[in-house]
Amino acid sequence: MKFATQLIHGGQTADPLTGALGVPIYQTSTYRQQSVDHFGKYDYARSDNPTREALEVAIAGLEKGSRAFAFASGMAAISSTLLIFSPGDHLVVCEDVYGGAYRVLTSIFQRLGISSTFVDATSLDAIEAAIRPETKGIYLESPSNPLLKVTDLRGVVALARPRGIITLVDNTFMTPYLQRPLELGCDIVLHSGTKFLNGHSDVICGFAVVSDPELGNRIRFIQNAFGAILGPQDSFLTLRGLKTLKVRMDQSQRSAEKIAAWLQTKKSVLKVHYPGLADHPGHAVNAAQADGPGAVLSFELESYALTKELLEKAQLSAFAVSLGGVESIISYPAKMSHAAVPKAEREKKGIKDTLVRFSVGLEDVDDLIADLQQVIGR
Ligand SMILES: *Cc1c(COP(=O)(O)O)cnc(C)c1O
Repeated sequence: MKFATQLIHGGQTADPLTGALGVPIYQTSTYRQQSVDHFGKYDYARSDNPTREALEVAIAGLEKGSRAFAFASGMAAISSTLLIFSPGDHLVVCEDVYGGAYRVLTSIFQRLGISSTFVDATSLDAIEAAIRPETKGIYLESPSNPLLKVTDLRGVVALARPRGIITLVDNTFMTPYLQRPLELGCDIVLHSGTKFLNGHSDVICGFAVVSDPELGNRIRFIQNAFGAILGPQDSFLTLRGLKTLKVRMDQSQRSAEKIAAWLQTKKSVLKVHYPGLADHPGHAVNAAQADGPGAVLSFELESYALTKELLEKAQLSAFAVSLGGVESIISYPAKMSHAAVPKAEREKKGIKDTLVRFSVGLEDVDDLIADLQQVIGR
């Protein structure tokens, strides 16, 4: 099945009881058992729920993995998955990793004896130099947030595999429509499904996806033991949102390409970060490992005053946290996604106080440009 077909039919068969096309919401915590000796497939809804299962099968298929696990948020997926590591283990992490991941790594996991070194992951040399004998994982985002830096995922796999190091990729920005890290040899794909996968800014959810069955068993054990599962209502909504992933991504990406090119012509815009631009340092690598540059871009304005004005005066684009919804969202990394990163650390990473991130939604692109123009174009 091609991707668009898989979105509609993957993991979803008509309900055997009624023929309903939509997967029913199994709003139950437990299931009646028939035999004392043999419990049925479903015994308690933390372990298994048919609505969640349909979503997990769908996501596993889209990412070309063997299993996917749905969690209550992207951070629940990330934190639960990181529990495969043990005290003494070391991780190499891209330096502009999502702020919440940075926070959980540097506070909780550090305290539990799992340490991290943050590196510029656009450089394979920097990654290799950070690898120690006790390094067990390399944690990446490509393109990264909010600077859209691109990591050569095949190159990282070539470093990691021979050393027995697990490669984890947060694929939130690309989605499996544009990039499938498991096919590139990575071991674990993570998602904030809150963003493009659900796509309607009305659910918080997350996923971990693997190919290797043994790794799948380990994450499955943690999902059930730790218990940060996705509920049936949110599973249903995410299944519904997922069906339109391809048409949403196609449209938003087209608009993002147009907006990025337009921003480049503006004098008050000092820099545009978008892998779709030919002068983006990661343009070629992204094109070699992904099927498109995505629908998120960021740009630097000439002054803080103009930055503040844009954030507060944009009408169509909501000044908000998050991305990947049908609504365009304009956000301010310094005080939002990366507020958990100390200012000095942030600036070192190039996340300036004049940097704005733009997640392009489904509004007409001419209207979006006109909305930006009223502040930036003057
Ligand atoms: C939003 C986001 C997360 C966290 O996901 P939640 O669903 O908010 O917990 C992780 N990684 C990336 C890249 C994100 O954008």
